[in-house]
Amino acid sequence: MDAEATALLKLQEIDLALMRAEAQLRAMPQAEKLARVAKAKKKLSSELTRIIGTRKDIEIDIEDIQEQHERYERDRAEAKATISDSNTTYKEIQALDAKLSSIAKQLEKLEFKLGPLLEKLDEAKAGEGKLRAIGAKLIEEETALRDSFAADSAQICATIENLKEDREDILVDISEEMQAAYAATQKRFSGLAVERLTGNVPSTCRVKLATDTYQILVKGPSITTCPYCHRMLVVEGL
Ligand SMILES: [Zn+2]
Repeated sequence: MDAEATALLKLQEIDLALMRAEAQLRAMPQAEKLARVAKAKKKLSSELTRIIGTRKDIEIDIEDIQEQHERYERDRAEAKATISDSNTTYKEIQALDAKLSSIAKQLEKLEFKLGPLLEKLDEAKAGEGKLRAIGAKLIEEETALRDSFAADSAQICATIENLKEDREDILVDISEEMQAAYAATQKRFSGLAVERLTGNVPSTCRVKLATDTYQILVKGPSITTCPYCHRMLVVEGL
């Protein structure tokens, strides 16, 4: 077996160990809780966006009413001033009186609209406040979970770091072409990309090779493809 074949087997071993360590991390109770918190945060964020939108719409409506209100107030003050002006004729005063009573009606209408809007604004603000409080609690919970996760997973994380370093070291002995073939096969077989031929039985699919196939394989390169399962096959030779 040449150096590349030995390295390939080692690479497979390292990657399986990495998969096991990563599965251990995922299986930690905090991981599941963190996923739940992340989901809750996402849901909360969309609810918050919605309620902020509602609150802003209400504020715009209120602002609009307040502007109209101010405009009518100005008109009213102006009309009253003109009425008190000694140059204003009786006819003009009559017209201004009519205008004043129309303004009063409009102002009443606006106040009628404003009341429920202010109530709605209070509701939206209260809802927004509640959501923000829940959000703060979720962030607190998340921080606590992350801390506990970090403490409990330190050992596994250290193992993963070491494995990754070993992986980098071993890749030096494997050609880029072979690395690409390995990556593709690994993906296809969920990690179990390489098997070895010991005797005439591949170690993973365990389909016994026909004698002539076996003869061809042992005379060929030390890394080939399993004729049955199409995993990479390291031939140990005779
Ligand atoms: Zn096979």
